[in-house]
This record gives sequence, structure tokens and C-alpha cells, in this order.
Amino acid sequence: METDLLPSFCSHEERTLLSASWVHLIKNVGQCFKDGVKGFRVALHKYLVEIGFNYDFLRNESDRVTAVCRMKERRGCEWRVHALMEYANGWFYIRQLNNVHTCGAAV
Ligand SMILES: [Zn+2]
Repeated sequence: METDLLPSFCSHEERTLLSASWVHLIKNVGQCFKDGVKGFRVALHKYLVEIGFNYDFLRNESDRVTAVCRMKERRGCEWRVHALMEYANGWFYIRQLNNVHTCGAAV
């Protein structure tokens, strides 16, 4: 039987970091960012901070953004997101998302 002895040596409160919710900022195809490209870029950056990986932009324009995991070349990681602006309302939508890291980033 295993017992967790850590609390008896180090008593501290469990704390949840404010960044913990950032893991949910990039979720699925069809996800909408009403702040347009600016909101999408902020969400993408917070998401990488929380997940623990880095990305490169293949395209980074005001109406379309495509990003891949920085480990794409070195480890063949397939993580990729592609988002487009909808001209009717200026909102940004994720159109393609492969949200699986094969590079070892913690998801
Ligand atoms: Zn990756």
C-alpha cells in the first residue's frame, strides 16, 4: 500500500494557477474568436504557454493564420492550426486543427 508522505514534510495549500484555464483556449474546428485575428493570436499564445510548446507561423496575416509546432521538422510533430476571418462579421474561426502533439509536448 502506498501512502503520500509529501504533505507531512511540506504543508502548503494547493493552488491553481490563473493560466490553468488557458489549456481550453484552442479547442476545436469552428471555434470563434470575436476579437478577430488579434483575439486568436492572444489565445494561441496563451495556449502554447500552458501546454508547453512553441510554434512557427506558416502564414500570419490579418485574414488568415496558419501555425505549426516548432518540432515539425525535427520530430515530425503534426500539430497544426489554421484559422480564417469571416468577412461578413470580422470574426476569426478555426477551420483546421490537428491538436495532437507527437513531439512530446504535454497535452
Ligand atoms: Zn508538437
